[in-house]
Amino acid sequence: MAFLNIEHLEKFFGTNRVVKDFNLAIDQGEFVSLLGPSGCGKTTVLRMVAGFETTSSGAISIDGQDVTHLRPNQRNIGMVFQSYALFPNLTVAQNVGFGMRVAGRPKSEIKARVDEMLRLIGLPKLGNRYPFQLSGGQQQRVALARALAVQPRVLLLDEPLSALDAKIRVSLRDEIREIQRELGITTIFVTHDQEEALSMSDRVVVMNGGVAEQTGAPFEIYNHPTTRFVAQFVGTLNTLSATVVDAKTGRVTVGETPIALNRPLAGATTGETINLALRPEVVSLGRKEGRDTILAGRLAEVHFLGSTIRMRVDVGGTLISLDTFNTPDTPPPRIGEAVELSLAERDLLVL
Ligand code: ADP
Ligand code: MG
Repeated sequence: MAFLNIEHLEKFFGTNRVVKDFNLAIDQGEFVSLLGPSGCGKTTVLRMVAGFETTSSGAISIDGQDVTHLRPNQRNIGMVFQSYALFPNLTVAQNVGFGMRVAGRPKSEIKARVDEMLRLIGLPKLGNRYPFQLSGGQQQRVALARALAVQPRVLLLDEPLSALDAKIRVSLRDEIREIQRELGITTIFVTHDQEEALSMSDRVVVMNGGVAEQTGAPFEIYNHPTTRFVAQFVGTLNTLSATVVDAKTGRVTVGETPIALNRPLAGATTGETINLALRPEVVSLGRKEGRDTILAGRLAEVHFLGSTIRMRVDVGGTLISLDTFNTPDTPPPRIGEAVELSLAERDLLVL
């Protein structure tokens, strides 16, 4: 049995069903993200796991113990929120030691543990400061230390990086993951940022309208999305409209270009218009071996991002995004130039 088990979890606010038959089994030490747009129910799931919100139905167990109806302080869970929520009138050390003091631990033990936690988050010298004397990133590290100080069985993080500057956000991703690995603590991380979820997680749960649409490793979610929503929400996706020529063998045309998908198009009929999708990195500028479908277009946009270049090419009125690596000796083509794109049939997703 998994370490943390969530089964058939439901939440109604009045008649509004905001979490629908949510199931998730997390192994000990695993880092799992809940990813989805604002309002899809991520926080509500997390708050039910923490015990801040009652469940309408379903069950939650940790390490074999049913915690569904336990109070938050009986669950032994640590939680970090988007807003740092440190006690402003307490020092960093007092904040970190707060949970242990409430639990009545001896002073010497609290001091040793606080020192250990401050070392863990890389702020060993800041114990006597007050929250207002710290940067946002430092405050969030202290919030993490405070959550971890009581040695919780599970760590819950609700958009802990969303309020921070871009640069700190990225460096804190690595720090959080490093600390999580070092402690081996089972973690649920909530975010609406797909890059954050993909880069940090062992597994990602993509949520939409209270439903877990797909659960899987980042590689799986990105490359083999099982629903249209997941395909579109995770990563950039080009969509091409195609006309079905033969549904059984998967022959279609995109504009004038015939494409053999070599797989049956379930439910499609001849002459019907369907959507094909493809990721920017599987489209090549110019002809490339193994990418045998050629589309002619005109370069509409060039975004130089440093190590990569994102371009948008107008193909018969549809903009196709593609990514290429920067090559220092060859500047990118100019906007308005006629270009050819090549792609491989197998990289086309049927939505
Ligand atoms: P997320 O964290 O993904 O943005 P939430 O879990 O906060 O989403 O919210 C899910 C849905 O539940 C939203 O429609 C929100 O308005 C609603 N909701 C959240 N909390 C409450 C509440 N206490 N009372 C009524 N509706 C709520
Ligand atoms: Mg939320």
